[in-house]
Amino acid sequence: MRLFESLLSDGTAAALIGGRWQKGTNSFPVTNPATGEILAQVADLGEQEAREAVTAAQAAWSEWKALPAKRRAVILRAWFELIHEHTEALAELMTLEQGKPLAESRGEVAYGASFIEFFAEEAKRMSGETLPTHASDKRLLVLREPVGVVAAITPWNFPMAMITRKCAPAIAAGCTVVIKPAEATPLTALALAKLANEAGMPEGVINVVTASTPDAVGKVLTTDPRVRKVSFTGSTPVGKKLLAQCAGTVKKVSMELGGNAPFIVFDDADLDAAVAGAIASKFRNAGQTCVCTNRFLVQEGIYDAFVEALAEKAKALLVGDGRKPGTQIGPLINQAAVGKVQCHVDDAVAKGGRLLCGGHLHELGHSFYAPTVIAGATLEMRVASEETFGPLAPVFCFKEDEDAIAMANDTPFGLAAYFYTQDYRRIWRVMEGLEYGMVGVNEGLISTEVAPFVGIKESGLGCEGSRHGLEDFTELKYVCVGGL
Ligand code: NAP
Repeated sequence: MRLFESLLSDGTAAALIGGRWQKGTNSFPVTNPATGEILAQVADLGEQEAREAVTAAQAAWSEWKALPAKRRAVILRAWFELIHEHTEALAELMTLEQGKPLAESRGEVAYGASFIEFFAEEAKRMSGETLPTHASDKRLLVLREPVGVVAAITPWNFPMAMITRKCAPAIAAGCTVVIKPAEATPLTALALAKLANEAGMPEGVINVVTASTPDAVGKVLTTDPRVRKVSFTGSTPVGKKLLAQCAGTVKKVSMELGGNAPFIVFDDADLDAAVAGAIASKFRNAGQTCVCTNRFLVQEGIYDAFVEALAEKAKALLVGDGRKPGTQIGPLINQAAVGKVQCHVDDAVAKGGRLLCGGHLHELGHSFYAPTVIAGATLEMRVASEETFGPLAPVFCFKEDEDAIAMANDTPFGLAAYFYTQDYRRIWRVMEGLEYGMVGVNEGLISTEVAPFVGIKESGLGCEGSRHGLEDFTELKYVCVGGL
């Protein structure tokens, strides 16, 4: 835990602005969701510090973008190596402030670091184009240039990966960044920034502004004309608000928003594989990921066998403090999250849902919720249309393939969808019919740095990860050289 302790002076963690660690005059507590214990105080900054961070990022930009891509790649690679070296300390810190089991935190450190490694390599391939000319005395070029100062506003459910998925491509492209981490998980963000400093990242390239109330900082990041791009991951309502705020200065935006992921199981599916995929996709991070299954749609011929097997496996999941070896489900992030899950459960049961397991706080109490499976789910239930963001698996029944596709698409969201079948014709039909940015076919875990992470409809704008994720932090400049 030396990394964690190194962030603190007198029990308070400072934010990073222009290479200087700043505490400001106020602080807010960060708590362990498993115990309620206060882990640390963190600098509570506002409008003024947000402007200072933008000034620092703007000042650092001209030198940073002028560096050869290879040099930027070397610094990113050094950051990646340091994160790997500190895997255990980062994972422990993440479990402490976010609650996920240590094994998942270690997985997130590897996943988060993979974006830095990948984009360090991609930085060297950020090529432009030459075009066939339309006149013999002219030559036409297309340059790809970094967009400028980027604001990265990130959620608590992936305290590290949502930061690196934005910052690694931005920095690789030659941008500088101001990060506004979630109030619940700022320590991982500060630890990452500290390691970036040690890796030789120049002052002002990465700035972190921590705050207990996001509005003032958010207002600066979305309205200051020096910020050229806002990359946001979080809920759809907040995303819409920030999008509107960005309109005044016509910023580029990337929005990675909420989902309502369907998981379809057809009669011919491999039952064991479908149940294993269902557990992985539903209960990872206690159901608190944007690509977690929200609704299981199961064909009538396999319905009973699937719900029985799913409930059996869900019941067996080990709930506990994420630091305890063997824990598979940690606490929910806070009491509001517990309240939302309970609300969805009560609503489903009141509307005729059959509780097969869970449906209440786990015996550990506090913010631990028992993994829950509800059979007989119907479209009138809130869980049919709202993201639960917790360990609740409602199982709907359908007859025909077309019914499943229609039910799956009957939502304003379009992030991740999953389905299980062994029929290759059905695979193509269903995959093409689903209005989603990402589809898992006979697979419940799909995220990787090499593939685009995209949401369509109200789940988002733009793309993260893959080579397309780098392009999102660049602008094209067309140059016509005449008089030749
Ligand atoms: P959230 O409430 O929307 O918050 C996300 C971030 O925005 C936090 O840093 C939050 O700060 C900040 N924020 C809130 N209001 C703001 C404002 N007015 N101005 C500037 N910043 C503001 O979402 P969350 O509860 O942290 O995360 C869960 C949601 O994220 C779910 O809907 C999930 O599906 C979605 N998500 C999407 C993806 C994806 O890639 N599509 C990935 C992960 C999560 P505070 O923490 O201080 O409130």
